Amino acid sequence: MLKPTRIWTEVDYEKNGKQSGWLMLPHSVTRSAYGMIAIPIAVIKNGNGPTAFLMAGNHGDEYEGQIALCKLIRAIDPARVQGRAIVMPAANFPAAMAGVRVSPIDGGNLNRCFPGDPDRGVTQEIAHYIDSVLFPMVDLFADLHSGGASLAYLPFAHMHEGSDPAVNRRSLDALTAFGAEYSVVWKHADERFAPGAAVKRGIACMGGEFGGGGSVNRSMLANVEQGLWRMLKHMGIWDGPTQAAPATRYMSIPGIDYHVHAPDAGVFEPATNLGDWVKAGDLCGHVHFVDDPMRTPVPCYFKRDGMVICQRHPARVERGDCVAHQVVAGADGGAPAGRTGF
Ligand SMILES: [Zn+2]
Repeated sequence: MLKPTRIWTEVDYEKNGKQSGWLMLPHSVTRSAYGMIAIPIAVIKNGNGPTAFLMAGNHGDEYEGQIALCKLIRAIDPARVQGRAIVMPAANFPAAMAGVRVSPIDGGNLNRCFPGDPDRGVTQEIAHYIDSVLFPMVDLFADLHSGGASLAYLPFAHMHEGSDPAVNRRSLDALTAFGAEYSVVWKHADERFAPGAAVKRGIACMGGEFGGGGSVNRSMLANVEQGLWRMLKHMGIWDGPTQAAPATRYMSIPGIDYHVHAPDAGVFEPATNLGDWVKAGDLCGHVHFVDDPMRTPVPCYFKRDGMVICQRHPARVERGDCVAHQVVAGADGGAPAGRTGF
């Protein structure tokens, strides 16, 4: 039987107009015995129509989406809305406030916690609320990411492909409406991820990796802001002005063998730049050992043909850190779906 959430809110999901409030998650600690973690949420509703759920801060150190959604909450005029937008700019709120990927409270990675459990700690409780309370109201879910502190991306919007072709079609339509320069299809939908959990419920879903390095990319922030308005218009939720989208290039990520991981601990010297097209067997980079200058650097190689769309941002690596991953041309991937395991 479905467990009830303990999270409560004064926001009324059925009320017309613009409301900005908080999800109150009970959290009893020494500083605050009967305290709550107050997670921001906004609801903009006008009459009947589809519901878009726009979320950022799934990982706390990914900022373009967080800023774009705060701007959208302030800017959106409910009189020009038909239907509803539910907006959570800092979903893993403790992580967002600390500027880190995972929760400083329980170490929880929200994007590995779905469908969540209200009895297994703060991050699981947030996932459970999203999955059991918000998702049943939603027609389109946007989950806005970035590379965070450890990765740098050639920015792209994306969707996660599930097993239902009709849902995949609606996701692809939303992705196209968003209109990023690169539109990438992940050829899998891990149900521990927020998009995978949404797709499982038959919700169209898109997102993106809009920058990285723990910073804010100005041009991508502008693209995210404009893309969100275009997507809301595509859904029939927003009746206001939008800017024309740039031409998009469809790409896909067939599996985890399009990733390269550090073969040793040390300082990573990349052999490629973001946007380079490489072949299987090409050099990805070397790990150097500055504590032992005579030791020969250890190389690592790409396992597949593809374009480098992501590279590790900090130079120091441990064995097993992702140092690069690739995409291939076309939304269909050109290869069978690979293993997940992120
Ligand atoms: Zn992320």
